[in-house]
Amino acid sequence: MFDIYSSYTKNDIYKILNVPKDKQKGHWNKGHASYDNMHFIFANIGIAGSGFSSERQYDYNNFFDEDGNLNWITENNRKQNSPIIQSLLSSNPYLFIREEGTADKHWEFVGIGNSIHIEGNNPVKIVWNIDTDKTYHFQSEKADVTILREGKKLARSDTNQIILQPAGNKDSREHYEDTITNLVSLRRIEQYLESDDMEILRSIYKDHAPLWGVTPGKKSINFKKWKRVRVGDVCLFSRDKHIFSSAVVAHKVHSKRLALDLWQRDAAGSTWEYIYFLDEVKKHNIPYKDFNRSVGYKSNYVIQGFDVLSPEKSHNVFEDFNLSSSIHLDLIDDKEFHNTVQDMDELSGKHLTLTRKEQGKWRKMLFPTGTRREKCGICKNEYTIDMLVCAHIKKRSKCSIDEQKDFNNIVPMCKFGCDDLFEKGYITVVNGRIMVNNKGLTEPMLKYLSNIDGNKCDFWIKSNNDKYFQWHHEYHNQ
Ligand SMILES: [Zn+2]
Repeated sequence: MFDIYSSYTKNDIYKILNVPKDKQKGHWNKGHASYDNMHFIFANIGIAGSGFSSERQYDYNNFFDEDGNLNWITENNRKQNSPIIQSLLSSNPYLFIREEGTADKHWEFVGIGNSIHIEGNNPVKIVWNIDTDKTYHFQSEKADVTILREGKKLARSDTNQIILQPAGNKDSREHYEDTITNLVSLRRIEQYLESDDMEILRSIYKDHAPLWGVTPGKKSINFKKWKRVRVGDVCLFSRDKHIFSSAVVAHKVHSKRLALDLWQRDAAGSTWEYIYFLDEVKKHNIPYKDFNRSVGYKSNYVIQGFDVLSPEKSHNVFEDFNLSSSIHLDLIDDKEFHNTVQDMDELSGKHLTLTRKEQGKWRKMLFPTGTRREKCGICKNEYTIDMLVCAHIKKRSKCSIDEQKDFNNIVPMCKFGCDDLFEKGYITVVNGRIMVNNKGLTEPMLKYLSNIDGNKCDFWIKSNNDKYFQWHHEYHNQ
């Protein structure tokens, strides 16, 4: 399984595919490799090939065109009618790229290719349309291989990112009014999008959504940045030397037709076809100078164009302006989660981020897509899910790795008190009933707790998590 826009070393790829030692390297060090009826393309974009001592310096002038298609050139001695090229053209290859800024030795998976144009011989030029919006799974008998990343460094950036979106010119002022201040109805949108995109949108929005789009930009520069945008990233809209609003990215789609309907074309004939849907739109009044200080820019810096900040800069902005989303958390797959849990105690500096990732994993399980309200596992009151946390029954720091990863050890608890009261041992659960420990409680605390005392805890299941509740009770009653 390759995650879209995640980076992999060739060794990662061998492990995922179970490529035996004697089938590794060789053609894998070229621009096109095939294995087990699958084809893989490794394209350097705007840089000469590098990173492997065994890899020669190829620079075939591959690029993304205005439509986001990958224009790719084969090795010199290939003809259109050669069996290898015929086999490639009849397949949907996995497309990996390296470009300026890609981590050393890593290749970014950008999607599955569909050939839409073929030209020339010795070499052959192929234009690949890229299917990007899904995560691709494929069958492999031993697919469950843990990817060990070199030096514990996660190839993917660890935090949500900050997106800069200046909206000061005439077009963007109108767009902001038309599709963010005034929401767009899903009815209008649905004629342009795939049904699985619509399903996601309907799970997020009732019937109207705020959205934004960018043009491909010169040399597809905006398209490349847009590719890096992920759900949970926070977009900052700016004009007149201020950041005036923020919003969280909830979904993204590429649709020229939708963009044309919503915003028509700009003076150069382009449209804002690289679209992202937003949520949690908030007003701000952050002067550029405060933002610049946070990011480390000169105080008179003016935000110029659509951009995605580096993980370090994004981290600073999140910290300084408290912008993180509590609904659209970045989700991680099981492998990364496993690595995250193991790394957590070693990398104390990254503790906050990793905890967010861990919360993301549990939240996805407790609050499936579309859930906006849920009951607290202790007081049973219903809250919006941003007022609930995924709490560990047995203290996380006392858990073995297996226990830390055990979903049975997780209960949703409200921020109105239950989470803290449980963590500090004012409440425990004994045989499925809430029990209040009267250790120096004040009057208001007693009042809150008297509503809960003796209630049945719906999350208690004897065979699943009683051991954790027992541990918790004994820990606080020694
Ligand atoms: Zn509660």
